[in-house]
Amino acid sequence: MSLLTPNYMYDNVQSINIKELKSNGIRGICLDMDNTVLSIVESKVSEEVKDFIKKLKENDFKICLVTNNPDKTRIERVAKELDLPYIRFALKPLSRGFLKAKRIFRMRKLKKMAAVGDQIFTDVLGANLLGMCSVYVKPISIKDHIINRMRRPLEEKIVQKAKKKKNIK
Ligand SMILES: [Mg+2]
Repeated sequence: MSLLTPNYMYDNVQSINIKELKSNGIRGICLDMDNTVLSIVESKVSEEVKDFIKKLKENDFKICLVTNNPDKTRIERVAKELDLPYIRFALKPLSRGFLKAKRIFRMRKLKKMAAVGDQIFTDVLGANLLGMCSVYVKPISIKDHIINRMRRPLEEKIVQKAKKKKNIK
C-alpha cells in the first residue's frame, strides 16, 4: 500500500463507521480541525459532528484534536466546544503531534490510533508513516489556505485512484 493511500475514506466525519474502527482495534483518534471538523471560515461545529464525537466518546474512544494551525484562539474555542484536548502547530505529516497525542492517550501502540483528516499530504501520509490507521474525509469546504488549495488537484487524483483500488464509487 502506498503511503499516500488512506485505509478508509468517507464523505465526512459523521459518516465514519465507528464499529469498523473499533473492530480493527482502534482506540485513539487524532482528529484534524480545519475542513474536517469545521470549515476554515466557520467558528461553530455542526450538530452532526458534535453528535458523532459524542458517540465516539460513548464508545470509549480517546480523542484529541491535532491541527497544523498555529492559531491558539481558534483551536481553544473549538476544543472547548467539543470538550477535547488539542495539539496545535502539529507539523503533520511529521510525527510530533501524533506522538504527543499518544502520550495524552497514555497508549503504547501507534497502531491502535487513527488519524482522521481531509488532507492526503498531512493527515493520511503522517498516519501511514507511523503505522497508524489513516482515515480520509472529504474537505468540508473548498475554501482553504492557498498552499492546501494548490495540493487539492493532486490529492483528488490520489483519492480517485485509491477508490478504484478498493472498488468504491
Ligand atoms: Mg484539514
